[in-house]
Amino acid sequence: MRLLITGAAGFLGSHLVDRFLGEGCHVVGVDNFVTGRRENLAHLAQHARFRLVDHDVSRPLFVDEPLDGVLHFASPASPVDYTELPIQTLKVGGPGTHNTLGLARRHGARYLLASTSEVYGDPLVHPQPESYWGNVNPVGPRAVYDEAKRYAEAMTMAYHRAHGLDTRIARIFNTYGSRMRPDDGRVVSNFIVQGLRGEPMTIYGDGSQTRSFCHIDDEVEGISRLFHSMRTDPTNIGNPAEVSIRELAEVIMAETGSVARPVFLPLPDDDPAVRKPDIAVARRELGWSPRVDLREGLRRTVPWFRERVEAGDARPRTLTRG
Ligand code: NAD
Ligand code: UDP
Repeated sequence: MRLLITGAAGFLGSHLVDRFLGEGCHVVGVDNFVTGRRENLAHLAQHARFRLVDHDVSRPLFVDEPLDGVLHFASPASPVDYTELPIQTLKVGGPGTHNTLGLARRHGARYLLASTSEVYGDPLVHPQPESYWGNVNPVGPRAVYDEAKRYAEAMTMAYHRAHGLDTRIARIFNTYGSRMRPDDGRVVSNFIVQGLRGEPMTIYGDGSQTRSFCHIDDEVEGISRLFHSMRTDPTNIGNPAEVSIRELAEVIMAETGSVARPVFLPLPDDDPAVRKPDIAVARRELGWSPRVDLREGLRRTVPWFRERVEAGDARPRTLTRG
């Protein structure tokens, strides 16, 4: 199989490249490096079945060799990144999705969209099953990301219905692991870097809001299974173990040996109060459920950040200030 993966230099994309090369596929990675890093793919520089193309997928892309699959993972994903890149985020989710769907159609390739739990917005149903339509503010600061992904899902289903394209939609919940940018501003990267630097963790609001964190190894397994399955409807891929942000800070303090007392910063607008996937569909249809709990996942992740902190080039980045 020959696959094209957009966002290949990012956190999730680079792990997926490794996964599909490991499955024996040829992989064409596409990235414009707006939030990703070449370093994430440096170990593949000499790989015979991998090549990397520097391209902004908000513009049309053409590939000569045959393709069996297109996986669209390009998009800023950290709230700090997409707040700084609002138009690029809307473009990669809008025209970027349209362009990559067109590419898949031209090649008769299977298409997988990286969607997000953010399509559920600030949910009124808890936990969130795929059948819930969400509660999204279309004009708030998170809208550039949430609405781009909702549009991307609608466009993917339109290509499926109108053109018979073979499509998959992964609704990905908060995922963490090695290769996240230490300064990408997401909560796990911020807290680990702060813990390792002996700095206070920056909790937004009172920290009672919840998230459900999935380790990258589980997430990649789920995405691969979805890609190889026959399931066209959106599918939640996430870990249902829900924690409050205050609890997360405590666990990461313990794992990093930090004793600095957290500081509390203003809660960003529209920050969802709760988030937890209902994964009954993934269990039933893909035979998938996560295996790595939060402590084990952090043990697999902290050493990667420690190297960067010790090299002196890792700083946290916050969305709000005191
Ligand atoms: P990331 O920022 O690490 O990676 C995104 C990659 O896309 C980067 O390498 C970036 O340079 C690239 N990119 C962005 N715009 C581009 C464009 N116009 N053309 C080409 N490349 C472009 O983020 P991530 O966490 O790896 O997220 C990857 C995908 O998974 C995103 O689509 C995101 O919405 C989705 N997702 C991630 C999570 C998570 O918790 N990590 C949760 C839900 C959904
Ligand atoms: N958060 C926090 N401190 C930080 C970064 C994030 O308290 O330094 C909180 C944020 O308010 C949100 C949760 O952690 O409630 C997850 O934030 P993240 O940016 O990782 O992703 P989100 O799930 O909001 O897209």
